[in-house]
Amino acid sequence: MKIAVLKEQAAGERRVAATPETVKKFVALGADVAVEQSAGEAACCSDAAYRDAGANVGSRADVLAGAGIVLAVQGPDPDSLNGIEPGSWLVAGLNPFGERARMDRYAEMGIEALAMEFMPRITRAQSMDILSSQSNLSGYKAVIDAAAEYGRAFPMMMTAAGTVSAARVFIMGVGVAGLQAIATARRLGAQVSATDVRAATKEQIQSLGAKPIFVEDVKGIEGEGTGGYATEMSDEYKKAQAELVSSHIAKQDIVITTALIPGKPAPRLISDAQIATMRPGGIIVDLAVEQGGNVEGAVPGEIVTVHGVKIMGHRNVPSRLAADTSALFARNLFNFLSAFWDKDAGKPVLDTEIGDAVRVTKDGKVVNERLLAAG
Ligand code: NAD
Repeated sequence: MKIAVLKEQAAGERRVAATPETVKKFVALGADVAVEQSAGEAACCSDAAYRDAGANVGSRADVLAGAGIVLAVQGPDPDSLNGIEPGSWLVAGLNPFGERARMDRYAEMGIEALAMEFMPRITRAQSMDILSSQSNLSGYKAVIDAAAEYGRAFPMMMTAAGTVSAARVFIMGVGVAGLQAIATARRLGAQVSATDVRAATKEQIQSLGAKPIFVEDVKGIEGEGTGGYATEMSDEYKKAQAELVSSHIAKQDIVITTALIPGKPAPRLISDAQIATMRPGGIIVDLAVEQGGNVEGAVPGEIVTVHGVKIMGHRNVPSRLAADTSALFARNLFNFLSAFWDKDAGKPVLDTEIGDAVRVTKDGKVVNERLLAAG
């Protein structure tokens, strides 16, 4: 089985889908690995390191020729896949809801596209979950980005010249990214509070030494849907949440929002009027900015100042830590493919539970139930 590793072409994408470490492991499984020239350059993986690990390095056409599995971080432009073999697998973060037309093109080209963000949230798939590995580092980076822009210190400091008070940091959305943001802000010495719609997160917030800020006594408080993801909340809940946030946010120096609902635009959590109540010099980081944004006025790819508060809307935050996020992404893909590797067949053979969840296209058609249900 030949495995091709593509160089990412999307603007600003610095990650790579395989590292010399995972190449070596694929080779040990009996695969031939071909890496596109300079694919890992921006993630600190040189062509020489890939060669040392046992890969061939060549042009895109060279690596695609005869490959049965193609690895990428983001779904490649179909026009850049000339020469891909019909029936070959494309394994990547494909953004199927956001790139629906592209999924149709993959189907027409006879590609079997596997969307890694559709990995089911079951224990045995945890090591294959790109959403978790990438979100974790995004949560960390959001705090570091905020700290770099913030014109004040994070920890309380008692000096001979007087006391500097600790920064107050509020995390909205306590999934994988939010939990890491809480932990990072705490490590830097901030006073941290956090909120979520899923009641189960209250205990997690407390266990990290932060203060939970929760809407109580409102219908639909559970907020938890399938696979541990959030559901969209009732209007009654949204109103109660907005009131609670309004009183809390006015006292915060830094707010980091991470709230997502799968297959839907990100919920709006902070209004312009609420931003106006923060003190000048405050920072808001909107990690959901590319999914529609949690914060009114956030602009993808920009840092804007509104009412004296900086709203940071970096795109593709995982790519800003490309060496580490690539290493984890690459391991996720290796853990996935190796778990199903069939020695006799010399290739992976997926089971139904995981295969049906991640498979988006097959035999010329879009086959994924989640995607088809979304219309
Ligand atoms: P996510 O990225 O989909 O969303 C981020 C957070 O925003 C979630 O905690 C969500 O509840 C919250 N949110 C949504 N709407 C909100 C609103 N209106 N106000 C405030 N918060 C809101 O979530 P995620 O990081 O992918 O994690 C979701 C859960 O899945 C977590 O409990 C996580 O531990 C779990 N998980 C399980 C596995 C596994 O078992 N394999 C893998 C990854 C994550």
